[in-house]
Formats: sequence, C-alpha cells, structure tokens
Amino acid sequence: MTRSTFKRKIYNSEIIEIEGLSIQIDYKKINRIYLKISSRDASIKICAPLKTNSPIIRNFVNQKLSWIHQNRQKILQKNLSNSNLQGKIIRYLGKNYHLELKSDSTKPRVEIEFDQFKNSYEELVGSIFLINCDKCDELNKNKILEKFFRDKLSEIAFQFLEKWQKIAQVKVEFLGIKKMRTRYGSCNPRHKRIWLSLSLIHYKIDFIEYVIVHEIAHFFVQNHGQKFYAKMDELLPNWRSIKNLKID
Ligand SMILES: [Zn+2]
Repeated sequence: MTRSTFKRKIYNSEIIEIEGLSIQIDYKKINRIYLKISSRDASIKICAPLKTNSPIIRNFVNQKLSWIHQNRQKILQKNLSNSNLQGKIIRYLGKNYHLELKSDSTKPRVEIEFDQFKNSYEELVGSIFLINCDKCDELNKNKILEKFFRDKLSEIAFQFLEKWQKIAQVKVEFLGIKKMRTRYGSCNPRHKRIWLSLSLIHYKIDFIEYVIVHEIAHFFVQNHGQKFYAKMDELLPNWRSIKNLKID
C-alpha cells in the first residue's frame, strides 16, 4: 500500500457498516482495493477503484476481519496507555519528575523545574513541564518530549566525548542517538562510530558516562574478554559501581 494511493483524488465516497465497524470508502482511479487503519483513532478507510460494487468490498473486508480487529485493538490499547501523559512520573537523569502541562503565549517546549518540597513516596525532585502542548495530540506531545530528551542526551554525550577522547587518546568520528531495544550503546571500532540508546536519558549522568567509556574501550578491545575489562579498569576504575547504580 502506498501513501500516494490515499492522497489521490476522490470521485465518490460512502460509509458502510460491516460487523459493527464503520468503514469509509473512497472511490478513486486506481486498480485495486486498499485498506488503511488510522494510527490516530483506529478508524478504517478503504480506497477502491471507481465502480467497485459493494459485495466485492464486503468480501474484501470480511477476508481481512481478524487482521483488522487485531490491529485496531493494538492501536486503541497504545492510545490508551499514551493518554495519561499528564501526571505521569518520568525519570530524567536518574531522578523522578512529575509531568505537567502548562500554557503561556509562546511556542510548545519542555522545561524542568526543581521543587525541593515536592518530595513524596515517589521521591519526586521536581516537574517536567510540557508547555503549550494542550492542543497537541498525545503523539505530538510524546514527540516534543522525545526531542527534548534527545537534545539533552546529545549535549551530555558530546561533553563526555570531548573529555574521553583526550583521556583515551582516540578520535570518535561519529556519535549518534537512536532508540535501541536491548542495548545502551553500540560501536563500530573500525570506523570509530558510537551509537547511544535514547533511553540513557532516564539514567544517572555517571551511567551515561560509563556507557560512553565502555564503547570507547571497544576501540581497543572488541570483545568482552579479560583485556576489555582491564582496559575499563584502566580508564574508569570504579566502572563496576557506576554500572550498578543507574538510578538514585
Ligand atoms: Zn560492549
């Protein structure tokens, strides 16, 4: 299914009901039937060639019913878990913050405020404010927050990089940040490239430093053998305790 199919000119439109699902059908100059489920609200849209008759469309939908139900369920579930950003506890650099929405007359942004009295059983140290985001949908709120975290992590990482390039006498050619499922970092020793996981922003700054040193140590020893840990001991003697104290 291509994006352009859904952007093409609509000649006729109707809404049909199948098994309790309300489906919008747009008739266009295309050669086959396409189906799309909106990630925003799980609504279903079909693009069909002009003059496709309704039994053909019903048959098409019926064949895909279990797939449609499964995917709608996933989307609805995801939207539900995202819908409570306000009031959520977010960990930033190893400490817990309360996420709050706020408005003023400028553009959407994120700000952090420490609040020494905000200490509860959740050990909150302050608030992360999503400002002027009340009109954004949850997806965009997440994006704004994610960009803030990415920028902060990048700022921190480049400071450590400067420090550790000098200490280890290496030149890092590239440092990037991306979402990683299972690792905190990865590297390519030959091309002197380092990738860091965006999730590092949730951990203590010492831990971020440890991950960077770990990846730099791989420039010298590529595996996790004895020589590697000897290099870690040489560069960052207390790396073991840092590794175990990711959060406050
Ligand atoms: Zn490693």
